[in-house]
Amino acid sequence: MVTMRKVTRVYGTGRHKVHALRGIDLEIPPATLAIIKGRSGSGKTTTLNLMAGLDRATSGQILVAGADLAELTQRQLTRWRRKTIGFIFQSFGLLPSLTALENVELPMRILGVGSKFRRERALECLHLVGLTRRASHRVLELSGGEQQRVGIARALVNKPQLILADEPTGELDHNTAMKVMVLFRELVEVQGVTICLVTHDPAVEEFGDYVFAIEDGRIGEVLHRREEGGR
Ligand code: ADP
Ligand code: MG
Repeated sequence: MVTMRKVTRVYGTGRHKVHALRGIDLEIPPATLAIIKGRSGSGKTTTLNLMAGLDRATSGQILVAGADLAELTQRQLTRWRRKTIGFIFQSFGLLPSLTALENVELPMRILGVGSKFRRERALECLHLVGLTRRASHRVLELSGGEQQRVGIARALVNKPQLILADEPTGELDHNTAMKVMVLFRELVEVQGVTICLVTHDPAVEEFGDYVFAIEDGRIGEVLHRREEGGR
């Protein structure tokens, strides 16, 4: 689903140059959960932004869901991203005064999906994350764990091939974080989605099919947790 070959990203110029990524190689097969772990500043968010086509690599090759991202124009990238990628954020990224259902519908509005189908699909995704009964609650009435479930439902609505999650358990207590990770595993195993999650939380590692350690813009050890077909 994702191939990165010798990917670098340099910010700034001259004395202000920052080598955020110094040659990333990684491969994420479809229907797996890949975890990239590393300390703050190691290059995790930069890596996700490149996979999403939100930022361009300085050098190297990035293939995502069959597209070579360097070959797409900015316009093509935006269209491609809306259909292909779902995002999950550390601080949920929801509109607090809207209901759970309205938040989940938003990415479909952007794609111009009709209201009847939008509502059905949003309810379906809220059901997948176990939040049917909270559909008409405003987000600010929900707990952190529930808000992240809304965030996950929203990421799923357009049936993305790849879900990118940037420190999705960063603002959750341990037990809630573990429940969110169990949900991610279900989505991979039952729905067949592919998830790439970046984190500095060692407690979530055990949920990964693949665990990559990133340090100072380089992928170090690669831990293969689960053998393909071994589940
Ligand atoms: P992480 O998500 O692992 O905390 P980042 O990918 O955000 O790390 O950042 C990696 C490095 O690149 C850091 O040193 C950061 O300061 C630098 N960096 C990130 N974005 C920019 C930017 N837009 N301009 C300059 N430097 C940046
Ligand atoms: Mg980050």
